[in-house]
Amino acid sequence: MVDRVDKIWMDGELVNWEDANVHILTHTLHYGVGAFEGIRSYRRTDGSSVIFRLEDHVQRLLDSCKIMGFECPFDLPTIADACMDLLRVNGLDEAYIRPLVFIGDGAMGLYANNPVRLAIIVWRWGAYLGDDALANGIRTKVSSFTRHHVNSSMVKGKIVGHYVNSILAKREAKAAGYDEALLLDHQGYVSEGSGENIFFAKNGMIQTPPFSSAILGGLTRDSVISIARDMGLRIKAQSFTRDELWLADEVFLTGTAAEVTPVVEVDNRTIGTGKPGEITLAIQQRFFEILRGENREYEHWMTEYRI
Ligand code: PMP
Repeated sequence: MVDRVDKIWMDGELVNWEDANVHILTHTLHYGVGAFEGIRSYRRTDGSSVIFRLEDHVQRLLDSCKIMGFECPFDLPTIADACMDLLRVNGLDEAYIRPLVFIGDGAMGLYANNPVRLAIIVWRWGAYLGDDALANGIRTKVSSFTRHHVNSSMVKGKIVGHYVNSILAKREAKAAGYDEALLLDHQGYVSEGSGENIFFAKNGMIQTPPFSSAILGGLTRDSVISIARDMGLRIKAQSFTRDELWLADEVFLTGTAAEVTPVVEVDNRTIGTGKPGEITLAIQQRFFEILRGENREYEHWMTEYRI
């Protein structure tokens, strides 16, 4: 259950949690055309709070709207301010932030010109795959479901309906006793997890699928690429196969929810030593130092707010 908060932001107004409702004819409920974001804020060790890559997330939300061909009724500064106000009003020094652009009710049918609406919800959310996953790694399985073809769904958008594919894969993996699903693209190359980007390391070289492949352009992925480069690690964006993953020394997933999660098993093959690898742990540690404000080299990624 999501921890209930006092207020939800809807179409520019703060409304009470129990009043944040929509009509059953809400278009997005029927056809899945909407766009959303997942953003995190962190309490730093000095007691201040920051939102991680706020503007980049809001820009991706607007990009998702552009991809789907509808106009978000609010601009970037308004949405960014709304996220900060909402955290303040709900007294959250650390939270997950979920903006959702959706098509409201009015006409039905696929070609409807209904009002575009925006809601923002915030709640406390711990480690998405669990604290144990961050510390000890997870078991994964390649899914029987293929990631969207880049010309059937526009994968650079974080679009509501796209997540049917992710949920099919996630449910299949969980039902078979794994923690997370890995999806291959239509050519058979590894694309990403159900809600995370993927990396592997082999002989000191880190590799992740290229931005132009069937992946969401993750902001954690982008951050990890910068962090790895700044740490002097070698990293490249290049497609790879499922068996390259099996033979990797280390595998890890990145995402706003999953943060930097080590993978210790793929398709019942142990990765490396079966424990989170050295490179993975070094990047994970640096990532959390940055989020906790113990490393201040990436302040341009942070938006401070007060509650
Ligand atoms: N891929 C998919 C399919 C996702 O849902 C997410 C989570 N937004 C990611 C990758 C990671 O993106 P980010 O690091 O921006 O959260």
